[in-house]
This record gives sequence, C-alpha cells and structure tokens, in this order.
Amino acid sequence: MTNLYAELDGVFLEHAEQDCLRLLDGTVWRYEDLRNLVARIAKLLLQQGVEPGDRVVVQVEKSAENLALYLATLCVGGVYVPLNTAYTAAELEYFVGDAEPALFVGSEPRSDVDSFTLQADGSGSLMDALDPNVPPMRVVARSADDLAAILYTSGTTGRSKGAMLSHGNLSTNAHSLCEAWGWQADDVLLHALPIFHVHGLFIASHCALLNGTPMLWLSKFSVAEVSAALAQCTVMMGVPTFYTRLLADADFPRTKLDHIRVFICGSAPLTEQVFSEWEARTGHRILERYGMSETIINTTNPLHGERVPATVGFPLPRLELRIADENGHELPVGEVGAIEVRGPSVFSGYWRMPEKTAEEIRADGFFITGDLGLVDEEGRLSIVGRAKDLVISGGYNVYPKEIESILDDMPEVSESAVIGVPHVDFGEGVVAVVVPSGEDVDFAQVETALTGQLARFKQPKAVVNVSSLPRNTMGKVQKNLLRQQFAELLTED
Ligand code: AMP
Repeated sequence: MTNLYAELDGVFLEHAEQDCLRLLDGTVWRYEDLRNLVARIAKLLLQQGVEPGDRVVVQVEKSAENLALYLATLCVGGVYVPLNTAYTAAELEYFVGDAEPALFVGSEPRSDVDSFTLQADGSGSLMDALDPNVPPMRVVARSADDLAAILYTSGTTGRSKGAMLSHGNLSTNAHSLCEAWGWQADDVLLHALPIFHVHGLFIASHCALLNGTPMLWLSKFSVAEVSAALAQCTVMMGVPTFYTRLLADADFPRTKLDHIRVFICGSAPLTEQVFSEWEARTGHRILERYGMSETIINTTNPLHGERVPATVGFPLPRLELRIADENGHELPVGEVGAIEVRGPSVFSGYWRMPEKTAEEIRADGFFITGDLGLVDEEGRLSIVGRAKDLVISGGYNVYPKEIESILDDMPEVSESAVIGVPHVDFGEGVVAVVVPSGEDVDFAQVETALTGQLARFKQPKAVVNVSSLPRNTMGKVQKNLLRQQFAELLTED
C-alpha cells in the first residue's frame, strides 16, 4: 500500500491523543479528531462518486477542515487540486475546465460540476453533509506512481500548468525533509503559510503530520500573531516576506527566541541583508532551502554545518542535480547554467500538456527547472535567477541578481528588481526598479554605487523609483508585470 495517507493514518493512530492543530482561538484538534474528520469526509467523497484518479478541485480559506479535505482526497485515491484563493471567477473557469473535477469545493457552489462550500453553515455545505458517525477508516490502495495532487504553477506567462505529483513524489520528499531538518518528537511547527501551495501544504504540513507533532495553525501571516506565537513553537517555515515583515517591526523580537530549533525559509530568494539582520536580532541563522511545485524541495542548507547566505545548500538525498547548457550537458564547477534535477520527488509531467512536458523533461529524465544557478567546489548551489528573467544586452548575459545584490546594499535602497526591456541597439537594456528607503534614488547615485563593481554592460540604462514591488502571495516579485509596465522606457524619445 503506497497511498501516502495509509502511512499518515498509522501515525495519526499512534499519536491519537497528541495535539495536531492548535488554533489561535484556543481550539485544539488532536490527531484522533483530524483522523475522524478525514474518515467522515472520505465517506462523503465516496458517496459523491469520487473514484481513484478523479480530481477534487478546492479553492477555500485555510482551515483544519481544509487540511482534512486534502487528506480525505488522498485517502480515497482522488487527486487533490488546490487553487489560490486569489484567483478570480474567470481564472477559476480555466482551472475547472482543465482539471475536469468530479467534485469542486469552493467559496460558492458551481452549476457546471458537483460542488460544495466547505464550512458548516446549515446550507448544505460539505461539513453539513457529513455523517455524524465516524465510519471505519478505509484507505484506497494506490501505487507510488499514482497521482496524488496537481499543483497549478503560478504561471507568470501563458497558461498555468498543472504539475502532476504522485504519492511516491510526496512521500519520498517528506521523508527526506524530516531527515534533513532533524524533525523531533517535541517539535512544534509555526504554520502561517497558505495551504494551496507546495510550501504550506506539503513541505510544512507533511513534516509535522509524518511525526505526529503539533502545528500552531494560523489562518494567515500577521506580524503580531506570528511574533506572539513564536513563544510556543520550535520551528518556523516561511517565505522571505515573513522575515522582512517581522524585521520591519522595530520591537521584534519581544521575547528571547532561544527555544527555537530552526527558522526555515524558501519559495523566493532571501537576501543577505535579511539573513544578517535576522541573525543580529535573534541569534539564529536562517536555513534557506530551494524548491518548486514540480519537485517539492530540491536543495537545503545544512541543519548542522555552515548555512551560507545567498546559497540554497546541497541536493536532498536521492536527488541528482546538474548545471547544464542548453543541450543538457553538464557545465564545469562555478559556471552559471540551467539547474536540472532528476529523482524520486520530481513530478511526472504537466496535466494534459504533453508538449510542455516534453520541452521541460529531457529524454534522460532530468527536469529543466527554469532556474539558473551555479554549484561551487563544495557542491553548494546558488541561484542567480529565473532563465526567463535573464537579460541579454548587446549579446551579453546579465544576471539580475548580481545587480540587485549591490543595489540592495545601498543605504538609499530598500529593495530592488532588475529587468530587461527592449532597447534599439542592445536588444535589451537593463533597468533598475528600486524602492527607495527615503528620497527617490537617482541615476547618478546608482552609477556611483555600481561603477568599479560591475562591468559597464551590466549597469542599468535607467533607474525608476516605485513605492513597492509587485509580489504574488508567496512573496515572489512579478517581474513580468514590471517588464510590461516599463516596456517602452528605453525606446521612448
Ligand atoms: P513555486 O512553484 O511557486 O514554488 O515556485 C518555484 C520557484 O520559486 C523556483 O523555480 C525558484 O525560482 C523560486 N524559489 C524557490 N525557493 C527559492 C529560493 N530559496 N531562492 C530563490 N528562488 C527560489
């Protein structure tokens, strides 16, 4: 039986009395409570005709019931398809059409598919429709290659792609993470991430669930709630925005954080400044790791051993990672190239997009992640950016991160994003978009900061000031929006 839920169910039984979810309002879900709800939802899913391989599309606010719905879908052999709550009705149309679910659970019922809202409100929601009795647990047998989930990637260009993840993908990655991060029986995880994304749903939750340890379950991130909750936790997993927002609170931390075992960060680049400031304020060196919807986690800084800022550490056991040229040939140590990975956690392809799958998974099984990076002599990986964010100016490759790191070091700059926009002579020209820390930053200031540090061709041809950078819910800067906004900057007269 390789249904991931079968293994989790064993853990839940063993830890029946242990707290699973601690909510801010004081409600506690023990493992037994979660397991009972999973059994009841699983029964309803079966009654609704959800068969192995059927998709269950879910777009709801984070809650304990939402977690149980995910687990119940695994339990009956369904394929869980979580959607970002920010998606609009028009976007939802695409996802429902593409996934063709047997069931949809969302904030409003739909007419084109069997659907429920989630929370009990007396109006026939999924929670209202459950049998009050707890049926015996029956986990549907699945093989390691059978689909467990489809995660639609944030897709900043073109149609969003559904990454197909199997029970085997989820299970191997979860076990590797528990090992890499030394999960302990007395760990308490601060969980303030959304659970429609790989980070909150798989990376964070699975570590706690596989060990039968408690999670402090926050419906969303807030500086005040997270600061207070840290007193009761030993591990926090967050995106860089969590860390920058906490640091922006001059009183943070209000209490000592010596009891915290590890702060883990990923989903977007963590700057060296944030890393250092966090260490100065809390005494902790953030453990940065690198992952994605298609592969869950690829690499991590070590739990024991040097955590090097601006690097994302070493590949997880069983993951092969190479830096390759455009033909998939491995490049020498220290050279920048495409990050490619192969291993048991790597997805099998994009849902109903065989051409995209063939473009991104090579014949030898390596997946072209779309990220660019380099590996040093020790084997540590550094990410230099997304391949599609690479700027090619006058035939030269310009890696935005190299410029951003220097800009971010300027006291006048709070944060920055470097993009390439059309330029008559050079094809693309470099533009620095900066959020000033005080007065607007002008071109001459940037020029002074970069001259002597960066070759001329890498230096911005224009500097624009903005009040904030556009970010998605996971804290990733949406450079596509900046490229659109400033598309004509270097071609205007
Ligand atoms: P998603 O599939 O939404 O999780 O996005 C995955 C992408 O996030 C990766 O391909 C990287 O570009 C980026 N990413 C994740 N973790 C890191 C990290 N630690 N540093 C830099 N970029 C990261």
